[in-house]
Amino acid sequence: MKDNATKARRFARRPVVGSVTLCLITTLYLLFVTNRSFWTAAYGYFAADHLSFVLFVIGISAASMAIMTAFSAKYVTKPFLIFFVLAAAAGSWFTDQFGVIVDKEMIRNAAVSTGAEAGHLITPRFAFHMLLVGILPSFLIAWVRIGHRPVLSKLAHNTAVILACLAVFVVVGLGDYRAFAGVGRAHRDLLDRLNPFVPITSTIRFAVSSGEDANIAAEPLGTDAHRVNVAGLNKPRVTIIVAGETARAADFSLGGYSRKTNPELEKQNVVYFPNTTSCGTATAISIPCMFSVYPRTAYTHRKGLATENLLDVLSHAKVDVSWLDNDTGSYHVTDRVAYASLPQSADPRFCKDGECLDAILLDKVDDWLDHVKGDSVLVLHQLGSHGPAYFARYPDEYRRFVPDCRANDFGSCTSEEVTNAYDNTILYTDHVVSAVIDKLKQHSTTIAGAALYVSDHGESLGENGIYLHGAPYIVAPSQQTHVPFLAWVSDDLSKSAGFDVTCMAKQADGEYSHDNLFHSVLGLMDVATTVYDPHLDVFAACRRQPDKVASIQR
Ligand SMILES: [Zn+2]
Repeated sequence: MKDNATKARRFARRPVVGSVTLCLITTLYLLFVTNRSFWTAAYGYFAADHLSFVLFVIGISAASMAIMTAFSAKYVTKPFLIFFVLAAAAGSWFTDQFGVIVDKEMIRNAAVSTGAEAGHLITPRFAFHMLLVGILPSFLIAWVRIGHRPVLSKLAHNTAVILACLAVFVVVGLGDYRAFAGVGRAHRDLLDRLNPFVPITSTIRFAVSSGEDANIAAEPLGTDAHRVNVAGLNKPRVTIIVAGETARAADFSLGGYSRKTNPELEKQNVVYFPNTTSCGTATAISIPCMFSVYPRTAYTHRKGLATENLLDVLSHAKVDVSWLDNDTGSYHVTDRVAYASLPQSADPRFCKDGECLDAILLDKVDDWLDHVKGDSVLVLHQLGSHGPAYFARYPDEYRRFVPDCRANDFGSCTSEEVTNAYDNTILYTDHVVSAVIDKLKQHSTTIAGAALYVSDHGESLGENGIYLHGAPYIVAPSQQTHVPFLAWVSDDLSKSAGFDVTCMAKQADGEYSHDNLFHSVLGLMDVATTVYDPHLDVFAACRRQPDKVASIQR
């Protein structure tokens, strides 16, 4: 009896809130606590037009309230409000902390990230943020008692609230249509940071498109491919493509960066292409795009899946193709060729907590080179400069720019420490790529080698408050799309196949992009096919008649 009485008193002490009132409080909380980036960006876009900005705030608030009120029903309100609050708390961590836009491609990126990568994002600061901004308010929502009206009255009341909100939205929108349309056209990312609506719809769109992806089979491509110009070289031709990760051109001293981040490659006779842009701003887009026949402007995720790629065309030409992966996988590029994921080996010499230093790739290359039987292409997919744990990407010998940020999130480091850590990753990539070239040189008695290195996308290191990568391409800062690209061709191959490296170096200043990779590799391997476009082959303009006299002997 006493227990029941206590319970009843406690229950009575829980405040009673009308369901629409609770929706209103939650809407205001979501809009004004979890949307700092959204409002800051919008305020900037409206520039001096303060009145339009105020109307924009009113319009967005009214529309949000209409959406939230739609979920005001018995047994539905609390779970949905809590879901919205938690989603907004998580979303705001990434948008407000890293300047990241959580669109469909970002969700795809997160979904394919390895557990180790995801682990780096779950830091104590993230946990504290979730506790304060997500879990605590969720408890409050769970704790209060909701006063629901009788069903019919509630339906009428909610409908009236929703209609009133929509009316405000329409009146405001039409009233200042010119200003909104102008800003919306100039800044297509205007709504992209709106929490939690954008992360939630992005996740739904990703889930729907993944379900559709499962049924896509790749159409054959370049089945007419065959080798040409193979006389004059009596040893296998080998191209190693190093697919970089998160290296930005701005931090390559080969491209003019003031810090010496390429001490080893500067000593190799490489051709560096300083004006190269990526296809995407995230691995999940760039990797399949750069191996696809489609240029960036025509590429879509679906087309990438529905068409065979560079590796398949090489296979049709009887070139042996393999892929060694030290990153998050090949994104279906290797569905029909040899593939090995190195982190799964958990080799204690290189790996820790599911991630391995890129030295593991070098460790495997010697063995691979020793067993080359015919013309071959090997792709090495680096972990490179993948953030935010830059410090975990390089061994102590490459910890040269100090002090370097040793934390998983940047909040506890100065921007100088973040840049130092990042530049150490570039220094280490410089070593890895240079070592690949050295290994090709060491095997020059048995193979004629060439190497290409191109990064999948760049990285923001705090410029305008933006970190990491994955911005929608249309608004992506140059740091995320301007990537390092370089080529090295052995003397043997230059002579026997007529590659003029001096000529290439002269042309390297032109505008290049991931669009060039597909055709340049076909050119380098002398594969003829109807899908080859010499205009996109960076080597095509610098081919001369092969040097028949200097036919290379073993
Ligand atoms: Zn990447």
